[in-house]
Amino acid sequence: MTKRLLVLGSTGSIGTQTLDLAASAPPEAPLEVVGLAAASSWQTVLEQVREYRPSLVSMADPEAAAKLRAALGPEVEVLVGEAGLLDMIAHADFDVAIHGIVGAAGLRPSAAVLERGKTLGLANKESMVIAGDLLFQLAERHGAEIVPVDSEHSAVFQCLRGERLDEVRRVHLTASGGPFRTRTLEEIHGATPEEALAHPNWDMGPRVTIGSATLMNKALEVIELHHLFRLPAEKIHVVVHAQSIVHSMVEFTDGSVMAQLGPPDMRGPIHYAIHHPERGTADLEGFSFERFAQLTFEEPDLQRFPALGLGFRVIQDGGTAGAVLNAADEIAVEAFLERRISLAQLVEVSAAALDARPASQGASSLDQLLDADDWARDFARDYIASLCAEATTTKTP
Ligand code: MG
Repeated sequence: MTKRLLVLGSTGSIGTQTLDLAASAPPEAPLEVVGLAAASSWQTVLEQVREYRPSLVSMADPEAAAKLRAALGPEVEVLVGEAGLLDMIAHADFDVAIHGIVGAAGLRPSAAVLERGKTLGLANKESMVIAGDLLFQLAERHGAEIVPVDSEHSAVFQCLRGERLDEVRRVHLTASGGPFRTRTLEEIHGATPEEALAHPNWDMGPRVTIGSATLMNKALEVIELHHLFRLPAEKIHVVVHAQSIVHSMVEFTDGSVMAQLGPPDMRGPIHYAIHHPERGTADLEGFSFERFAQLTFEEPDLQRFPALGLGFRVIQDGGTAGAVLNAADEIAVEAFLERRISLAQLVEVSAAALDARPASQGASSLDQLLDADDWARDFARDYIASLCAEATTTKTP
């Protein structure tokens, strides 16, 4: 049976790998791309439209939308902005949305997919971090399903097939340790954006890659794990596993440990989300002696990677804490890539935002959570400006 896909964030890493799976789908399980959404890379979208023939396209950037419309002619409807994207989700005829939009901008699209009662293949971990509880309430109300497309969370999801959550002793969330796993604190503090962007195992977008260097990405994944499987902080254990072959493990109340393994390739989790609850057939690599011969595990070092602790703190704090951490980090990553702040300061910005977070912030609706997101962005910008001003003062003789 043909599965109809919406690909949200079609020009990014997750989007292009989803389209790759669509192109190579076996004839007995065809994948039809019915809609594409992207931010501004209209020329890439033009090529994608010519290859995959969706009936709907949405571009966040109005100028890019106009150029795409002019190039495509009247056959394909090009929608514009966030309203256009939500409109596309509301009207497209689809079974599964693979959602790889990066950042808080992915939250409303997640909610819109769930309101349609469809399957949300969620690579936008920010949606879970900001509004996990609300999204699960929506899914329940509309009979929708959330299937994680983060590799670790897909692993846990797969290990839990047919299992009961109350029989989970703890989950071992694996972390590659990123490019600075063996570096000293001083080396990490002085790292350049180029060094931080050189991830040893995974090919991902810049925000996730910087987050892998600080372990902030793992902090966000701890929060994501908490929401996806209703796990308290004490049942979440982060394990550094440099080879990224074991994507995560679930330990049960009888001491048995289940793991999901595979070479690092996001097409695995994407394929799983598309076909769940079936497995389907994919031409992806399985076991190999070359890659699987040596698997190592170590405890993460919270002194060198203090960002990781912030994930556990957010679970304890609850409310808008996830929204605040995520938004502050988005702003801090930009400032780091622009070389305005150091890698150590990048993490400091998010910790300061959590400290300053008003306890009165409401967290019972998407609007309130997005208000907290706005607040944290303003806070982070001001905080970064003061860090930069301080640096200028100390440099003056
Ligand atoms: Mg991950």
